[in-house]
Amino acid sequence: MHEATLAENILNIALEAARQNHAAKIFKVGLTLGQMAGVEVEALNLSFDVLKRNTAAAEAVLTIERVPCRATCNKCGKTFQLERYNFLCPDCDGVLILQSGRELRVDYVDCE
Ligand SMILES: [Zn+2]
Repeated sequence: MHEATLAENILNIALEAARQNHAAKIFKVGLTLGQMAGVEVEALNLSFDVLKRNTAAAEAVLTIERVPCRATCNKCGKTFQLERYNFLCPDCDGVLILQSGRELRVDYVDCE
């Protein structure tokens, strides 16, 4: 399962950050997640909750910031906010270039 692997990676990043800061406890892990990153937030949270047990992140919560998907047309230059991935400009049939929405990164780790 994709989300389980992802949760494991996030946990490892958080635990590594805690180690570097000599922190015993992690409170919060901030994530940026694009709408188009293909991640089920619920599944991610569930996986994270299982994996974090008996680690320094046992009480940590994921704070997820969703980034909407935006794309710019290579012909008319208009920028659109996409609900789902669409390759063609609705105005001129130019090709849409994705600007944001595929982000997937850990922004910060809040620890003690
Ligand atoms: Zn266009």
